[in-house]
Amino acid sequence: MRVSIAIPVYNEEAVLPELLRRVSKVLDTLPGGPHEVVFVDDGSRDGTLALLRAAVEADPRIRAVVFSRNFGHQPAFGAGLAHAQGDVVVLMDGDLQDPPEAIPRLLEQHQAGYDVVYARRVRRKEGLRFRIAYALAYRLIGRLSDIALPLDAGDFALLSRRVVDAVNRLPERQRYLRGLRAWVGFKQIGIEVEREARWAGEAKYTLTDLSRLAVDGMLAFSVAPLRAAAFVGALSVIASVLFALYAVYVRLVQGHAPEGFTALLVAITFLGGVQLFFLGVVGEYVGRIFEETKGRPSYLVAQVLEHADGSVVRARVS
Ligand code: UDP
Ligand code: MG
Repeated sequence: MRVSIAIPVYNEEAVLPELLRRVSKVLDTLPGGPHEVVFVDDGSRDGTLALLRAAVEADPRIRAVVFSRNFGHQPAFGAGLAHAQGDVVVLMDGDLQDPPEAIPRLLEQHQAGYDVVYARRVRRKEGLRFRIAYALAYRLIGRLSDIALPLDAGDFALLSRRVVDAVNRLPERQRYLRGLRAWVGFKQIGIEVEREARWAGEAKYTLTDLSRLAVDGMLAFSVAPLRAAAFVGALSVIASVLFALYAVYVRLVQGHAPEGFTALLVAITFLGGVQLFFLGVVGEYVGRIFEETKGRPSYLVAQVLEHADGSVVRARVS
């Protein structure tokens, strides 16, 4: 069996040497082969590309897919999946938050018959702010989605060839990988892997990026926010019917009209707010439809660095 490890890297020169060391140590211990590591350089502007080139030269198991600019973490995983040739593909971050030493455990589960083996995160070593944000986001997404998204599972996972092929064949361009991974089905299992702190360098994801990812996760797998509009609309119709009945009662029985300038103002601004909010929700979906219909690819590859027959590094433009 051949194992591919796909790793997106963006300005990771501080981590790369240690990453290479630990990943190749793990590769050496894996049975079968030949295995490979597919790095996806997501438009790094530091020394990452030079380090990758040297790594490709030094080790024929390493390939590097180089983007024409920074396209983002999820597109980089997409490229990793598209270029990996192994019978199983392991996706992991390049900052050593996902310990490569866990890969043999992922493989064990695969050999026990699972097509998707994902890492469930225990004991995050991140700031409290991030931990709370993650906990909330995962639970909200889980609740809203039409598919069962496992809680606290990140991108670190092993996928069998048939799952990789299935994901590669999906036509959508805005890919929320953990969602798609859950969507394809087959036999899936999560194992607990401790999420380590970043080895070096800075997190490329800000809290804003994370919220965007969370919104993507919700909107790409659910129309619940659209249904919520209908639900809130129905509630306000009921409320206004009740109020109308009350107004008639007051007029007929007590002989005077109900007053209330303040109540009127509150009702108008509240409903105005609700309408704008759901207009925004609908807008999010329309924006996504717009993005998809443009049909642009989610990334462009500038070159692929790999070991050719005569140990030279070939730069290929695709
Ligand atoms: N990354 C990437 N493109 C980006 C941002 C990040 O390829 O635009 C890579 C980054 O180099 C790392 C992984 O994605 O290998 C996860 O990034 P990061 O550690 O910043 O995210 P976090 O762990 O904070 O979610
Ligand atoms: Mg990280």
